[in-house]
Amino acid sequence: MSNTNIEWCKRPGTIPKVWNPVTGCNKISQGCKNCYAERMHKRLQVMHPSKYGQDFTAGAVCHDDLLTLPLKWKKPCTVFVNSMSDLFHKDVPFSFIDKVFETMAKSPQHTFIILTKRADRMLEFFTMLDKHGLNRVFTTNDETWPLPNLWLGVSVEDQAAADERIPFLLQCPAAVRVLSVEPMLGPVDIITYTQEGKTDRINFLHGGKIHQVFCGGESGPDARPMHPNWARSLQQQCAASGVAFFFKQWGEYRPWKNGDPIEKFEHVHPRQGNLLSRVIKVGKHKAGRLLDGVEWNEFYNLNSSAMSKRKNQNKIQTEAVELYSSSNSKQRRNISKKAVKHSQTKERKK
Ligand code: SF4
Repeated sequence: MSNTNIEWCKRPGTIPKVWNPVTGCNKISQGCKNCYAERMHKRLQVMHPSKYGQDFTAGAVCHDDLLTLPLKWKKPCTVFVNSMSDLFHKDVPFSFIDKVFETMAKSPQHTFIILTKRADRMLEFFTMLDKHGLNRVFTTNDETWPLPNLWLGVSVEDQAAADERIPFLLQCPAAVRVLSVEPMLGPVDIITYTQEGKTDRINFLHGGKIHQVFCGGESGPDARPMHPNWARSLQQQCAASGVAFFFKQWGEYRPWKNGDPIEKFEHVHPRQGNLLSRVIKVGKHKAGRLLDGVEWNEFYNLNSSAMSKRKNQNKIQTEAVELYSSSNSKQRRNISKKAVKHSQTKERKK
């Protein structure tokens, strides 16, 4: 029941799994418009009413009985945590998230992947952990914190989401940081990334703080097309920075090519259409996952060539990292405070 076909869970030597101690969510950005979890929830409501009885958008529901499920899996798994919700949803108490972390700490045989769109609340959680410790029995040893088996990430669908969420991610303690650019709804420039309200642009990929990028177009009946150049650009940014790049899928649309029916192409930008922005709707499976003939399956791994390259680049880019660290410490503190305030305000409004 917990096995999954999510491509980036299929890491060599591991079993791909999903673990859903939380179900249900609310839409908070354009990337949520055609939420896959919402569609699945409707189907599962019939099959598993005890777990999915509440409507998807009624909020997040925590399932205590599933908190320790991964402890039963003895073979190494790559586990996507909460494919059916967002772990950092306001309805999920920090004490519950802490128990999720405890299970991950007690399962060193697995690799867990957490992705969120609520990066501000994620940072708030880590800030609270530092202050109060909660149930963090596993963090007394420097070697086990940040959790070495957790890949922590944010989902970003376009530049605005990247600019909003990545700064929070960068402040969270994580052994591996992930950007999931899916569904990709616009170009995402993460090399010349803009610091909040400032004109100086810093290539934070070179800082070595982002380790893995997933990229994919949207699937489902109302899917929106991804411009082929957006995916190409992201791959090139990762290659230039030695960051592992995984191209998950085109989604329902793939690039139009000579020989395709001329009457069937669509432009990603109807008003500014040119040959390069032509796409054709063929369905997720036919669209496949080749980007210009290459299947990009890079995973973060210290021994991989991508990572060796990254390590070399890190040496070269020390200056850039230091620039980031020194010039923005005040700003980072402000972002931290803002994150807590923002989250509290949102909680009050609900
Ligand atoms: S945050 Fe994720 S699970 Fe929640 S509505 Fe958006 S896409 Fe769906």
